Amino acid sequence: MPPSATAGDIVVGDPILLPPDSREDGGGAGGSAPLELQGTAPLGPAAERTSIVLCTKWSGSFSDTHLGEDYVDEGHVERLRAEGRAIDRWVRDPHPARFASATVSGSAGAVWKGALDIQGCTPTLSVAPGAYSFTVTTKLVSGTTTYDIYKVFEPTPGKSCTPTRISNPPKRWCESNDSVMTSFTVQNVTRDVRRVDVPAGPETPSSRVASVAGQVLATPDRGLKSNDTYTIYANSGCPYYKDPSTGVVWYNWDEACGGSTAYFGLSQAADHHDMTTVKYVIAHELGHQMQTHQASWMLSGGGDYPPAASAPAACKCDFVEAANKLHCLQSRHAWWTAEIEGWAHFFAQRTFNERTRDDPVFAYYKEVRTDDGITHRPPFVTNALTPVKWIPNHCPLANKSSEWDLLVFLTALHGGSAPNALSMSEIFGVYEKLRSTSAPRTWSGMDGAALAYFGNDPNHVKYKRFHEAGLASGVGFSE
Ligand SMILES: [Zn+2]
Repeated sequence: MPPSATAGDIVVGDPILLPPDSREDGGGAGGSAPLELQGTAPLGPAAERTSIVLCTKWSGSFSDTHLGEDYVDEGHVERLRAEGRAIDRWVRDPHPARFASATVSGSAGAVWKGALDIQGCTPTLSVAPGAYSFTVTTKLVSGTTTYDIYKVFEPTPGKSCTPTRISNPPKRWCESNDSVMTSFTVQNVTRDVRRVDVPAGPETPSSRVASVAGQVLATPDRGLKSNDTYTIYANSGCPYYKDPSTGVVWYNWDEACGGSTAYFGLSQAADHHDMTTVKYVIAHELGHQMQTHQASWMLSGGGDYPPAASAPAACKCDFVEAANKLHCLQSRHAWWTAEIEGWAHFFAQRTFNERTRDDPVFAYYKEVRTDDGITHRPPFVTNALTPVKWIPNHCPLANKSSEWDLLVFLTALHGGSAPNALSMSEIFGVYEKLRSTSAPRTWSGMDGAALAYFGNDPNHVKYKRFHEAGLASGVGFSE
C-alpha cells in the first residue's frame, strides 16, 4: 500500500482505528492517569535528531454543514463552487483534532504524551531517524476541562475490558475511547522543523462528536467549568426509560440527550437514526450538558413537554416527522422550558459561528412550518439574530415562550457586533441571581434578576442590552 502522505523524507502510513479493547490504560472509568508531558526519550546527540510537528484531524461527515456557518466546515463548498461542481452536503470533511490526547512512541518508548493544541498539532518534537507511531484518542483536554468521549462495545471473549458506567444495561457492555494510530518513519536528519499532516482516521460516531467537542473547547469565552470532565457516549442512546403507559422498560431508548452525561445514537428501542451525523444536535446536547454542570437547577422539573393540545396549530409540532413532537422551534411552552431548549440552540450556534457575526447561522434538525403554510424539511436554516417573535405573533400567552424566541434572545445578549455584549459569566451571573432570589423563571423574573445583577441600575449598559434584547426577540412582551 503506498504511503498516504509524505513530508520531505518522513513517510506516513495509513491511519487505523485500534480495536476498542487494545488500549494499554483501559481508557474507561477512572482508568487513565492524568496526561503529562514526558519530554523526549534519550535519542542520541542533537545533531542526530530532527524536529517535527505532527498535526492530525478527525473524520466527520454531517448532514447539516456548509450552510454558511464558520466552523466544523473546512471550506469544501468554496472549493467545489470554484470547480463548478454540484454541492453535496454530505461532503466528507476532516476537522482539526483539537486538544485530543495523543502519544508519540518510538522503539525506545513514548517520545511525547499530552494534548494536541487548538490546531490539532503536537509541540515541536526532537526525534532520531527511526520508526514511530502516533496515536490520537477521543479524550479532549484543554486546560483543566475535559471532554471524554466513549463508545460502548460488546466484550471480546477472553479479553478484559472496562465495564461501562451506563446504569443497569440490559447486557454486559464495555467502554473505550476511540484511538487512531498512524505509523511513520523518519528517514534522516534535516535542520528545518518539519510539519507532518497525518491523515484523519476512519469516521466513527466518536470522531464526529470529537470534531464538535473540540470546536466547543476552541470557542472564545466558552463558558465551560474548569476542573471538570464532560463524559459523552457517542454510540449509545439515553440509558433508561420506563414507558408510563405500558410499564415497559427500555434501555438506550432515545437518540440524543444531554445531562450530567451526554448520549448519542444507536437506540435499541426504536428505529432512530444516528444523531451524531447532525452536528447542531451534537452541540445542542453538549449545551444541555454544560447547563447541567453549571446550573443543574435550570433543568430540574423536566419541562412541560409536549405543547398543550389547546395551543394553536402554529404553536404545536403536529407536522414534525423528523424526530419527536415533544417540542419544536415554534412550540409554545412555559417560559423556562423554552429557555432550556433555546439555551441548547444558542450553545450550538455559538459553537459554529464567530461571536461578532450579525448573521450567525443556525440549522434546526426538525421541520418548521412557516406562515405561508410551507413545511420546511430539515435542516431549516435561519439567522439566529433575526427576531421572529413567534409567540407574540402567533399565540401570545403570559409567561410562555418558544425555543426559537429564546435562541434569538440569548444570541442577542452574547453575540453580534453591537456594543455591551454579556460574557458567559455575566449570563450565568444573572441566572444565579434568579436562583438565589427564588424569582420566577419567566421574563419578568429574568429581567428583575438582570437588573439586580447589574447593580439595580436601569441605565447600566449591560442591563439595557438585556432588557432591549428581551423585548426585541419577543421573549418579553405584554399581551
Ligand atoms: Zn434539547
